[in-house]
Amino acid sequence: MKRFSFAAPASVDDAVRLLAEHEDARLMAGGVDLVHEMKRGIRSPSLLVHIAGLPQLEGITLNDGRLEIGALTKIAALESDELVIEHAPLLAAAAREVATPQLRAMGTIAGNILQRPQCWYYRDPDSFCLRKGGEHCHAVAGDNRYHAILGGGPCHIVCPSDLAPALLALGASAVVSTAGGSERRVPLSELFVGPRVDPHNEHALSHGEIITRLDLPSSAGLPNAFLKARERTAWDFALSSVSALCETGPDGVVRRARIVLGGVAPNAWDAAEAAESLVGRPLGDDAIDAAAAASVRGARPLRDNAYKVELTRRLVKKALESLRGD
Ligand SMILES: Cc1cc2nc3c(=O)[nH]c(=O)nc-3n(C[C@H](O)[C@H](O)[C@H](O)COP(=O)(O)OP(=O)(O)OC[C@H]3O[C@@H](n4cnc5c(N)ncnc54)[C@H](O)[C@@H]3O)c2cc1C
Repeated sequence: MKRFSFAAPASVDDAVRLLAEHEDARLMAGGVDLVHEMKRGIRSPSLLVHIAGLPQLEGITLNDGRLEIGALTKIAALESDELVIEHAPLLAAAAREVATPQLRAMGTIAGNILQRPQCWYYRDPDSFCLRKGGEHCHAVAGDNRYHAILGGGPCHIVCPSDLAPALLALGASAVVSTAGGSERRVPLSELFVGPRVDPHNEHALSHGEIITRLDLPSSAGLPNAFLKARERTAWDFALSSVSALCETGPDGVVRRARIVLGGVAPNAWDAAEAAESLVGRPLGDDAIDAAAAASVRGARPLRDNAYKVELTRRLVKKALESLRGD
C-alpha cells in the first residue's frame, strides 16, 4: 500500500472542503471496501478523509411519513431498527442478507450502495481493464460467469450491493452535500449510471460530493419481498437478487408494483415493464408468470452466464408469489 495522509474532519463542510482541495483524496466511511481497494493497489489516494466521527450523519428518523437514514448508519442497524422494520421492511430484509454480522457492524448504508464492483478483472491489481482506464472489458473474452446479463457493455460488471436495489424499489433519494455548502437531492434512479454513460464510475456524484442521508417514503403495510440467490450459503455476493413490492386494492387488484434486480446488471436494474404488467390485475399465476418472463426480456448473456436468465426468472416468480402470501 502506498503512503497516505489521514484527516478526521469535524464537520461535513470541512470534509467537503478537504476533498475539494485534494484532487486524489478519498472519502472513507466504514472503510470495508475502500481499504480493500487500497491494499490491492487499485486505488492509491494521497489523503483519506475519514467521516466516521460525525455523529450527525448517523441515525434513523421518521418525518412526515418519510424515513431519513443518516449516510453513516450501519447496515447492522437497518436489520433491527424498529422504524426500518415497520416503514421499510424490504430494506431490513435486504440488510440481513449483506455479508456477515461483523461486516454489517462496520459497513454503512452509503458505503454499501457506493461500493465498487466485485468483477475479478477490476479487482485484479495486474489487470488494466476498461473500468480502470484500459481499452477492453476483459470479461468479454474471459471468465464471465458472474457478469451482467442485462444492460452490459462496453463493461460487464454487476451491481454488488444488496441495499441499492431495495432502496431503488422503495423510491429512495440521496441527499448530497456539495462544495459551497449547498445541498441537492438525487433520486436513486438518477444516482447510478451505466457503463455506456461512464465506463469508469458507477454513480453520478462529482469529486467532493458527500451523501449525508437517504430519504424514502414509508412502505408500511405493503407486501414486499427480498430474495437473493448466491453460490454459497455463507456470506456471498448475489448471483441475482429481487426486491419486489406492490400495493393492492381491497379487491386484490394490483395498483402499483416495483421489481428491481441486483447482481445481473451494472447497476440496480429496474424491471419496470415487468412491474407495470402486474398493474390492474390480481396477482394470479398467469400474471406472475408473465411478469417473471418480462423481468429478463432483452437479457444478453455472455458465454458462461446464461444460467442467470432462468435463475432470475424463477427468483422473480418466487418473490411475486410471496407478495400474495404463498
Ligand atoms: C467479505 C465481504 C463480503 C461482502 N458481502 C456483501 C454482500 O453480500 N452484499 C453487499 O451488499 N455487500 C457486501 N459486501 C460489501 C460491503 O457491504 C461494503 O464494502 C460496505 O458496506 C462498504 O461500506 P463502508 O461504509 O465500509 O464504505 P467505504 O469502504 O468506506 O466506502 C465505499 C465507497 O463509498 C464512498 N463513500 C462512502 N460513504 C460515502 C458518502 N457518505 N458519500 C459519498 N461517498 C461515500 C467511499 O469514498 C468509497 O468509494 C461485502 C464485503 C466484504 C469484504
